[in-house]
Amino acid sequence: MSDSVPDSDSPGEAAFASLSLPPELLGNLGSLGYHTMTPIQAASLPAMLAGRDVVAQAKTGSGKTAAFGLGLLTRLTVSSFSVQALVLCPTRELADQVAGEIRRLARALPNIKVLTLCGGAPLGPQLNSLAHGAHVVVGTPGRVEEHLRKGSLNLATLDTLVLDEADRMLDMGFQAALEAIIGETPTSRQTLMFSATGLQGEGAEGVRAIAEGFLRDPVNVAVSETH
Ligand code: ADP
Ligand code: MG
Repeated sequence: MSDSVPDSDSPGEAAFASLSLPPELLGNLGSLGYHTMTPIQAASLPAMLAGRDVVAQAKTGSGKTAAFGLGLLTRLTVSSFSVQALVLCPTRELADQVAGEIRRLARALPNIKVLTLCGGAPLGPQLNSLAHGAHVVVGTPGRVEEHLRKGSLNLATLDTLVLDEADRMLDMGFQAALEAIIGETPTSRQTLMFSATGLQGEGAEGVRAIAEGFLRDPVNVAVSETH
């Protein structure tokens, strides 16, 4: 994560209040100091809230986490204690950051459980946490696939799948794990793919293959500047 905060106060940028977000979420955004959407948030959130699959491209530090975080939180049924959203990240460090941001975004909502499942961490506590249930899982592909094989994670009720830094996950050789995980999710899911590489140009083959294979008529949004 970049330490730089996007310049979201420039004139002409859209307020979160222009979206139909639950009032608790909106109020909490204000308390986090998020008043206007960053460009990638403004470009991707309306499509996400309309239930569309999205391929979003924007550089580091542009606020992609809150974009998909708000998208998935609006789709949760809090009273149903099952895994409804899965965010896959390339590294444990990124997964921890994403989980932290989703928890901050969700703190105005009652009792949302966000669980991280990453390699390098012991399995025992993860198995224990999974047995207690979670609404949102954030993890790395290898460990998530391991839990699926063991039967400790069930994705049958998944509603939102996020591939964060999809280009990096593919560079790291996670393509087979991603495909295996996606194969365990319902086809009715919403799929959101975020990456620094778009669908065109150099290095785009892997991202394009995932988009073509696993996304349903995605809305493609690309933002080249953070201001
Ligand atoms: P990315 O995933 O695109 O690299 P992050 O999601 O890590 O970017 O966000 C970068 C920083 O911007 C974080 O510190 C986050 O808290 C902040 N941020 C995100 N959205 C907003 C917003 N709408 N207004 C102000 N700051 C924001
Ligand atoms: Mg990010």
